[in-house]
Amino acid sequence: MLNRFRNRDKTHGQSDGRIASSPLIHLQQVVKTYPTPTGDFYALKTLDLQVNQGEFVAVIGKSGSGKTTLINMLTGIDKPTAGEIVIGGKPIHHLGEGAVAAWRGLNVGVVFQFFQLLPTLTNVENVMLPMDFCNTFRSNRERQERALHLLDLVEIKEHAFKKPSEISGGQQQRVAIARALANDPPILVADEPTGNLDSKTANAIFDLFGKLVAQGKTIFMVTHDKDLAQRVTRTIILSDGEIIDEYLAAAFPMMDEAHLREATRQLQPQLFKPGEVILHEGEPPEKFYIVSQGAVEVLLREPDGSQIVMARLRPGQYFGEIALLRGGARIATVIADPGHEHTEVLTLDKAAFLKLMDLSPESREETDRVAGERARETEGKRPSVS
Ligand code: ADP
Ligand code: MG
Repeated sequence: MLNRFRNRDKTHGQSDGRIASSPLIHLQQVVKTYPTPTGDFYALKTLDLQVNQGEFVAVIGKSGSGKTTLINMLTGIDKPTAGEIVIGGKPIHHLGEGAVAAWRGLNVGVVFQFFQLLPTLTNVENVMLPMDFCNTFRSNRERQERALHLLDLVEIKEHAFKKPSEISGGQQQRVAIARALANDPPILVADEPTGNLDSKTANAIFDLFGKLVAQGKTIFMVTHDKDLAQRVTRTIILSDGEIIDEYLAAAFPMMDEAHLREATRQLQPQLFKPGEVILHEGEPPEKFYIVSQGAVEVLLREPDGSQIVMARLRPGQYFGEIALLRGGARIATVIADPGHEHTEVLTLDKAAFLKLMDLSPESREETDRVAGERARETEGKRPSVS
């Protein structure tokens, strides 16, 4: 099972190479079962996950894949059957119901699909509720001041003294986000927050989340919207209670989820220093590679010893397929991009890769096509040796 720190290019432009010392959210071997008449149902199957402060995470997956179950683990709304959930250094799976509610009130803001505002209260009173619950301010006046400031932040202050029923869905979701921010929690968790909004409003809510991430919040958002999911720093794909590696899924967009789950279990991450050789021209092929952090350069050697950069591959792109599929030795050398402090690749051994290609003829055809194109291009560029 993959279990590693991440420092995404997508978030920071160039990776600055820092590896976080300890993740904000740490799930280890988390299992959640629900009892059913036919035996235990595994909603989450031995999940390992680490999220650093400042990450914007989208959780995607089919209905019933375990997204809400996962979210409920992070908020402490539900308890794992086995495993550990440590958030900000606190093992929340050990907390009792009262303690977990108090912890959540200060540490996790929750945003729901259907807003869940209290209809009898005004919007500003709704935002004040978590402060009342956690006793975070001395006076009612201070709470109201803070609530109005938050409503201003989410650009809805002019509706502060209206009831939720008097404003639109998108506006209600803004109020709900202000409420989630009431006690300035480091983490926001949102279960399909835009699921009930039109696409323009969904975009605006999403922009708001982006701003909060820029201010240092860590956001965990379940979404069905593939376009929105493109704009986050990290995507967690859930499938039948398991995580599918997002780079593997990007490399094989046509592959069945069952095969992606199986292959994810077999991926081995490997880290390389800038310029370090990952595979050598002339070697027999042993592995298949997918870039997951940083970048790699594919090099051809000239007779005079200099090198031509054939390609630069980014996260989600693969290499090493040509010799595995077409036989023979490696036709080029691949190195970790000198411009990235850390390059990570995910490897599948030869047997696992070939089995995966057998299981998924569509993916094999596509990968074969890419291999053929790349091989032809390489031949074309190869300096003729007399
Ligand atoms: P998602 O949010 O991805 O649609 P959920 O996390 O809600 O999925 O549910 C994951 C699986 O667990 C589903 O198959 C669902 O039927 C099952 N499940 C969820 N809650 C319960 C429960 N209380 N009892 C039994 N099965 C449940
Ligand atoms: Mg759900």
